[in-house]
Amino acid sequence: MRGAPEALGAAFFDSADFERFRPRLREGAELSRTNWFRVGGRAEWLFKPEDTQDLAAFLNVLPDSVPVTVMGVGSNLIVRDGGIDGVVIRLGRGFADIAVDGTQVVAGAGALDVNVAMLAGEHGLTGFEFLSGIPGTIGGAVRMNGGAYGSDMSALLMRCEVVQRDGRVEMMMAGRVGFSYRHSDLPEGAVVTRAWMQGRPGDKQAILARMHEIQAARESTQPVRSRTGGSTFKNPEGHKAWELVDRAGCRGLSIGGAMVSELHCNFLINTGNATAADLEELGEEVIARVQAATGVTLEWEIKRIGK
Ligand SMILES: Cc1cc2nc3c(=O)[nH]c(=O)nc-3n(C[C@H](O)[C@H](O)[C@H](O)COP(=O)(O)OP(=O)(O)OC[C@H]3O[C@@H](n4cnc5c(N)ncnc54)[C@H](O)[C@@H]3O)c2cc1C
Repeated sequence: MRGAPEALGAAFFDSADFERFRPRLREGAELSRTNWFRVGGRAEWLFKPEDTQDLAAFLNVLPDSVPVTVMGVGSNLIVRDGGIDGVVIRLGRGFADIAVDGTQVVAGAGALDVNVAMLAGEHGLTGFEFLSGIPGTIGGAVRMNGGAYGSDMSALLMRCEVVQRDGRVEMMMAGRVGFSYRHSDLPEGAVVTRAWMQGRPGDKQAILARMHEIQAARESTQPVRSRTGGSTFKNPEGHKAWELVDRAGCRGLSIGGAMVSELHCNFLINTGNATAADLEELGEEVIARVQAATGVTLEWEIKRIGK
């Protein structure tokens, strides 16, 4: 491959196998356009599979030595400034379908959470309302056990289709996903491609009104129109992360172009020209100040990827 080190499976990128997938691969793709913070370097290769079979066939021939990173819409990510080695996978249109089957909702992992919540609501299914305030994809929600208002993905998911790093397509029952708070035990490099979720019959008007309420509340309490990455730190047992950040005097703290949001101090913001390094440094500074002021060690919720 033009530019890929031997160690990263260079021979593959000159092979006939590679040529089969070439139309869906972009070399040196800028990632700052594809994440909420609008920061970060380039992907050595960006792969947008057509469907599950295409993804499975690609991973099956991709040498083990090539690192694989999966991205949704980048609403919980800091992509580092040095970019990402190997292949970044993004699920496109072929993974955005949503269907309702009785009280179940089946969605491609590239479907937006809000679209899933809306369709469930239109069909009078309750349980999905919390998803209407999370600006990610269903794949990201499964991976992160995304949640809000006392619910999370573990309460909805029945099973999901996953393509493993070696290209095997597996159906995984929810019990095997290993959900805990904002976390799943999915293996590194595994790509969620589809999710089956269970709702309950409810009152359509009440469900739609609740989603409207959630969206309005978000607009007034979170910097949803800023370049941000959602909750930066997990809530430690018995604490709210934002309260600890506030108590440590970090509201409005800034480093370079990165700032702790004045509106919601568990959110970091790119005020315009932040680098990923600014954001990460600011996050580490907040962790240190909170530790010194309260004795509690915050843990990153945002995933930091790349080099
Ligand atoms: C304004 C704002 C508000 C937010 N509010 C909430 C909230 O209330 N609750 C909450 O939980 N989160 C919230 N978030 C964070 C974020 O939206 C969620 O974590 C979301 O689930 C991430 O989805 P994504 O598709 O953007 O994933 P990304 O940010 O692109 O990726 C996040 C992680 O998921 C992995 N991933 C993504 N897609 C897949 C896939 N198909 N298969 C396997 N792994 C995958 C990535 O590798 C990465 O590790 C908020 C973010 C913003 C910007």
